[in-house]
Amino acid sequence: MNNNFTIEKINRELNNKIISCVDLIKDCIKKIKSDNLNDFITIFENDSIEQAQKIDEKIKSGKKLELLEGVPIAIKDNILVKDHKTTAGSKMLSNYVASYDAYVIKKLKQSGVIILGKTNMDEFAMGSSNETSFFGPVLNPHDRKRVSGGSSGGSAVSVASGHCAVALGSDTSGSIRQPASFCGVCGLKPSYGRISRNGLISLASSFDQIGPIANSSLDCAILFNVIVGKDDDDATNLNTKKVNIRNIKSKIKNITIGIPKNFDNFVTDKNILESFDKLIKDLRGAKIKIKEINMSFIDEALAAYCIIQPAESSSNLAKYDGFRYGFDSKVYDSLDDAYKKNRTMGMGDEVKRRILIGNYVLSSGYKEAYYNRAMLVQGDIKNKLNEIFKNVDFIITPTTPTKAFKIGEKLKDPLKMYFSDIFTVSASIADIPAISIPLKSNDLPIGLQIMGKYMDEENVLKLAWNLEKNFINK
Ligand code: GLN
Repeated sequence: MNNNFTIEKINRELNNKIISCVDLIKDCIKKIKSDNLNDFITIFENDSIEQAQKIDEKIKSGKKLELLEGVPIAIKDNILVKDHKTTAGSKMLSNYVASYDAYVIKKLKQSGVIILGKTNMDEFAMGSSNETSFFGPVLNPHDRKRVSGGSSGGSAVSVASGHCAVALGSDTSGSIRQPASFCGVCGLKPSYGRISRNGLISLASSFDQIGPIANSSLDCAILFNVIVGKDDDDATNLNTKKVNIRNIKSKIKNITIGIPKNFDNFVTDKNILESFDKLIKDLRGAKIKIKEINMSFIDEALAAYCIIQPAESSSNLAKYDGFRYGFDSKVYDSLDDAYKKNRTMGMGDEVKRRILIGNYVLSSGYKEAYYNRAMLVQGDIKNKLNEIFKNVDFIITPTTPTKAFKIGEKLKDPLKMYFSDIFTVSASIADIPAISIPLKSNDLPIGLQIMGKYMDEENVLKLAWNLEKNFINK
C-alpha cells in the first residue's frame, strides 16, 4: 500500500526526469479519488497541477530543483491556507474560507512544496478516531472497517496511502502520534513553543502544536526544518534553530533509554507488548542502556488533560456564534435564541460535551476543585519528568494501548476513547517532544513512541532514525 514516497526520492526522480511533476500530482489526485478513504475534505486540483507545470518548466529549462520543490503535501483542515476552505472538520466552519496563510503555510509555500489539499479530521481536533468529523470518518487503509486514529486521521492516511509524500497535523494530546501509529507512518509532536500556532484553529492553546507526518523520521526532520522559526505573531513561539540533519543521520552513542514500570498494565493488545519487548531485547543485545523509570503519574496526566483541555476549548470555541462567520441557522427569533440555535446546530456532540465540561470546571465554586487542581497536577508531572530526564535521555513506550479499533467501537463510550491518549498525553502535559514511528507488526500497524528532553527534537529524531535503520527496518 505504501508506495515509499520519500522527499529525497521524489527530488531525485524529478531532477533526473524519471517522472514529471504534473504526472506525479495527477497520480496522487487520481489515487485519492479511487481509494475513497475520505482522507481529504478539499483537493486543490487546479492549483496543484498549475504549480506542477511550473516545476516541470523549471526542470526543462535545465535548472535543478531544491529538495522540497514539487513535493506533494497534505494539510490538516485546521491550518489556514489563504483563499481555501478551512473547516476544522466542523459544520460550524464548513463554508469558511481562510483570509490569510498560517505561519507554517507561508514557510511551506517558500519551500516550493505543492499543497494538494486539506485533510479530514475530528471536529475541532476533538477525538481519537476521526469519527467526530462533520465530513464522516476516515477509513484506515490497512483495514477499511477500522478507524484511522485522530484527530489528524486524514493526514496520517494520506501519507500511509501514498496520496502525498508528507503532511502536517496538529497534536494536543496525541493527535499526530496516535493516527501515525494506527496507519504505520511517522509523526512528530514538537516541544510546546517550537512551531508557531499562528493560523492554527485552536483546540487547547497551551498544548496545541503543529507537526509533520511522513514515511520516515528523516522526512519528519526535513519538514520540521521548514516550519520551525520565530514568528512574532505567536507570543508563545520561541526562537529556536533548525535540527541538524547530518547529526540526525549519524550513529547515536552513550544513551540511556527509560521505560516506565508497569506500563504494560495499560496495554490491551498482546501483539503490541510482544513487538515492544522484542525491541527492548534487541536494544539490550546491542548494549544500549535501558533503565526502568517510575511514571506512575501516567493516568493522572490523562485526568489533568481531561480538565484543562475542555476548559481551554470552551473558551476558544466561544467565538463561534455564526454572526461574523461560521454556520448561521437563520431560524432564531432573538439574540439569545440565535446563540443557542447556531451553536446547537453547528456543532457535533463531542464538541458540545467538551464545552459543557469546560464551562463546568471553570465555573465559580468548581474552578478550585477541578481546574486549579488539574494545573497543580500538571506542574507536579513536569517536575517529575524533569527529574526522570536527569537519569535518562529518552523515554520509550508503545504509542497506543491498542491497534486501530473498529469504526463505531468506542464512539458511544467517551472514556474509552479518551484512554487512547494514555501514552501520548504526558509529553503534551510536559511540553516535551515526542515522535511515533512504526514498529514491526504482523498485521495492523503498531507505533513506538520516543519522548525526549524539552526542545531536544534533534536527538529524538536521531534516535528514531537509528532505530528505523538498525532495529526496525533491518
Ligand atoms: N484524543 C485527543 C482529544 O480528543 C486528541 C486531541 C488532539 O491531540 N488534538 O482531546
